[in-house]
Amino acid sequence: MRQSAAFALLCAACSSRPEVPIVNWHALGVAGNEFSISEFTFNRQIELLAREGFQSVALHDVVEHRLSGLPLPARPVVLTFDDGTEDALKRVLPVLKKRGMRGTFFIATGLLGKPGYLDWDGVRALSAAGMEIGSHSVSHARLTEVSDEQLREELVRSKQALEEHLGRTIEVFAYPYNAVRPGVRDAAARAGYRAAVAGEVHGGADLLDLYRISVKSTMTLDDFRRQVQR
Ligand SMILES: [Zn+2]
Repeated sequence: MRQSAAFALLCAACSSRPEVPIVNWHALGVAGNEFSISEFTFNRQIELLAREGFQSVALHDVVEHRLSGLPLPARPVVLTFDDGTEDALKRVLPVLKKRGMRGTFFIATGLLGKPGYLDWDGVRALSAAGMEIGSHSVSHARLTEVSDEQLREELVRSKQALEEHLGRTIEVFAYPYNAVRPGVRDAAARAGYRAAVAGEVHGGADLLDLYRISVKSTMTLDDFRRQVQR
């Protein structure tokens, strides 16, 4: 038993996937966008997770599990939502609340208040509802293509703004466009993030470059189940 536990730990460290599946949704109900799905489909996906016994955890819990051995529920999953668009509050939150689930919402602070995006009251409402809030940079820039100075600003200023407005520590970051390279990952670590998520191309098991399953409009419910169960 002890040997298999040690092997499992070793595998978690060397595998290209994190030990807890992390799912990423973008906007709901935006026509003509391959990353947008309908509210109906989203409901069915969340219903499926609940039916199969998945329990949502925050990225904070994944970090604590990895670093301090915090126990996780039997079938943990992290549910992430990028960009801080209005549907987070109007469409996503009610579905999660209905199922007793928790999501992680990544906010691009410079976009708040723009048409289609949440304002600070909206972000506070998500946080007050028990959701985990992370940064998604200030301007949603592709961080692999900006100067070192802008990279630092995008990471640090968004974290500070969220912390000031929410009165809590911001621990997690999502790379815009899931674009990351080692220098960007190291800058996220220096900015004080404990975990950061990427996508299917760059992500792996590293806490600051975590693989996420990207939900697309072409994904069937069976595809979704297979990916989350892997
Ligand atoms: Zn984004």
